[in-house]
Amino acid sequence: ALPLVAILGRPNVGKSTLFNRLLGENRAITMDMPGVTRDRHYATVTQGPYAYRLVDTGGILFGDDHPLGEAIRKQALFALEEADLLIYLFDAKDGYNPMDREVVEKIRASGKPAVYAVNKSDAPTRESVLMADFYKYGVNPLVPVSALHGLGMDELLAPLAPYL
Ligand code: GDP
Ligand code: MG
Repeated sequence: ALPLVAILGRPNVGKSTLFNRLLGENRAITMDMPGVTRDRHYATVTQGPYAYRLVDTGGILFGDDHPLGEAIRKQALFALEEADLLIYLFDAKDGYNPMDREVVEKIRASGKPAVYAVNKSDAPTRESVLMADFYKYGVNPLVPVSALHGLGMDELLAPLAPYL
């Protein structure tokens, strides 16, 4: 079976934008089982020598009775369990958010290969300050990306390449 790569991160960090970006550029695209799951979208991506399945953990609906933290935790933990490889997105507009910490710790504890990315890194003047802020938390490897503009995509996949 192809390795499963999960895209994790808080709501609005750009997970779905990244999912579509990785699917959209010169890849052979297969959407797996469309409509089977409401909460997660799967696709098979082939790019040069790499082939993997990708899961977008978006689509969670936040109702008033669902504290944000709990919903994030549930989707993140499920994806963490089923995935072989992990991409964790931070948001350059927000900086390191305390809500990131629990998932980051679980990713570390899982021992699964992971890459951390600071998405929305499309304002160069702030980028170096932000990257320093994230490095403080010891997340590594850490890559600035812009899913919207397709920046840093090769650098993002490079740490996972040995497994793809
Ligand atoms: P998700 O909730 O994590 O799936 O986030 P989405 O992919 O739905 O994106 C949330 C918002 O962030 C949308 O308005 C996107 O257009 C925007 N966004 C995503 N990636 C980028 C990026 O690289 N740069 C900028 N400036 N905005 C982005
Ligand atoms: Mg989404």
